[in-house]
Parts: sequence; structure tokens; C-alpha cells
Amino acid sequence: MALEIEIKVLNVGDGDAIIVYLHDAQRQFVMLIDGGERKYLADLLVELEVVLTQAGKNAPDLVICTHFDSDHIRGVAAVVEHYHTIGRDVGEVWIHAPGRSLVKEAASLLEARNRLRAVEESRGSGAVRLARLGDTLLTDGYDARHDLLLESLNEMCNLVEFMNEKLIHWYRPFPGIKIPGFPEIEVLGPSRDYFEENSPFPNDVKEMLNHEYSAKNSELQIINENHQLNRDEENPCDLLDAASKRGLSKANLTSVILLIDIEGEKYLFTADAGVKSFESLDEPEKIENLHWLKVPHHGSIKNLTSELIERMSPRYAYISGDGYISDHVVGCLEAHGAEVRTTRDEGLLRWPLED
Ligand SMILES: [Zn+2]
Repeated sequence: MALEIEIKVLNVGDGDAIIVYLHDAQRQFVMLIDGGERKYLADLLVELEVVLTQAGKNAPDLVICTHFDSDHIRGVAAVVEHYHTIGRDVGEVWIHAPGRSLVKEAASLLEARNRLRAVEESRGSGAVRLARLGDTLLTDGYDARHDLLLESLNEMCNLVEFMNEKLIHWYRPFPGIKIPGFPEIEVLGPSRDYFEENSPFPNDVKEMLNHEYSAKNSELQIINENHQLNRDEENPCDLLDAASKRGLSKANLTSVILLIDIEGEKYLFTADAGVKSFESLDEPEKIENLHWLKVPHHGSIKNLTSELIERMSPRYAYISGDGYISDHVVGCLEAHGAEVRTTRDEGLLRWPLED
């Protein structure tokens, strides 16, 4: 009997929380790929418990954090903490965590920002302001618009610290990482070289926040411009290709790309990876002729080209998204024969399809 795969793509807005259950007569494996924002935790745990009960497991075997954006990592941190608290640690965690110096710098920046904010809110006296001179120096050049990014970076740092403290196994998922007994599961990217070249973790936290913020900003612009497509008149693939692919954040471009290949039937999980990420894969043929695709970056117009869609040519394409969903991406996938489903329109998406 071939390995069976069951997938739940949760409805977490423009975010990812995906439960994958693999099983055959001998093997059972439950994994969670990202966890959405923390506010979805209760729903996520309900869906996870259903699968864990089915699999006869106490906790997920593997939890993957594809990158540190808040719509991916926050639920991951919450799930790992939750299972530890109830005495059933997750099997292992895959995450591209930053080095110690960045972790420390991010933590002190967050603390300084919090102290300064408290002072601002209480309209502190001159004495208090003076005492906070160090904080002011530290936060010089910091911008309140960076808050979300700084917080999710700290979420990642705290998660790594938590796992180290609680002796929860975690690894950086580069190609070649293996799950014993499950050769069907494979990390395609990012490779070590690619990750180093495009590292989302430079030496300076503020520089990093600036970069990630301007990338986010150009993404948000896309949402605003998500113009309606007149399908009778225009070719969605042309419109997709005409759109700029620039400005994606390094965090997105170094998202973990995961393949599950069951006797040639390929399921590809792309997180928020972009064109550059796919083009830099060491084994690009592995993303060709897919059976099932988790469309990258919530269906954003920035992450695919018609050439990539042609190569992937998924039979089924699932989009976990809302505002990011581009009609051109959907139209071009459909033009290449894909059956496209979105959490925006249908809520929780399941695989296999129900009758
Ligand atoms: Zn995302």
C-alpha cells in the first residue's frame, strides 16, 4: 500500500498553518508547517488534536517554521510551548534561527523600545527621560512601523531559547536533512549557500528591520493595487509576468521549500518563497509536474511567473490567503490546468478532496 497523505490548510487569513498526516500500514507521521498568528491557536489545536488522535500520537512528530514572519511563526511558538506545558513535547522543530549576537541585539532593542514607550505613555519626568538616555541611543533610527517585525523576530529568538532550555530538538532545515523512515519527505531549499547569500539575518538588527519593512511595504502596495482582471480580454499569465517580482523580503526568499514525493505524485509546500528561491534550487526538476501545490506567499503576484507555473503545472493548487490573492496568479494557474482553491473562499481546505 502506498503512503497516504492527508492535508489540512487552515484558514488563517494571509498566513500559513498546514497540518500534514502521512500514514500506511506501518508508518504514521504528523507534521505542522507554520502556525499562523497566535489568535488562531485554539482552532489550530482543535484540528491538530483530531489528526493526532487518528494517528495515535501525543504530539506532532515535526513542526516546521518556514521563516520568521508573524503570520507563520507565532502559532509555531505557541504550539511548541503548548505541547511542552502539557508534558507532550513535539518530536522536533525545523527552523532557520539566527545566531546568538543577533538574538541578543533584537532582545535589547525590544526592551529599550518597550521602556521608552512606557515613558512616553506616562509622560515621564525629565529624570526618567535622562535615565532612559541609553534606550534612546539604542532605538535611534528605529521606527514604530518596525514593531511587528521586531516582535516576530523576538518571537523567533524566544522560541529558540525556549527549545534550548527545555531540551526540545531543533535543526536548521537544509537540503539533505532526513526523517528516519520517511524518504518521501525532502527539503529542496534554501540551500546553505543560497541562505548565506540571502541571509535575512545581517549583523545589524535595525538594518534588517529596515530591509524587511520596505519589502513588506511593497507587498502591501500590491494588495491595494490588486486590480480586477477582465478575463475575456486579457491573458492572466501575461499580466502576471508584467508585474514586478522585486522587493520580496529576504525572510520570504529564504522560506523553507518542502517536497513530499509519494511514488512520483508530488506535493510541494512553498511557504512564501519567490521566483529567485525556485530558480536557485539545486535540483530544479523536482518542482516540475506537481500533483499538488501550496501556492507561494498567499497567492501574491510577486512570487510566481507563467514560466514557473508551466514547469510546476500542478493538478491542484491551494492558496492560504485573503488580501494577497492575485486574480492573475489564480487565472494563470487555471490556464495551466490547475484546480485552484482558496481559504478565502472556502475556509479550511482539505486534501484529499471530499466527494
Ligand atoms: Zn506569509
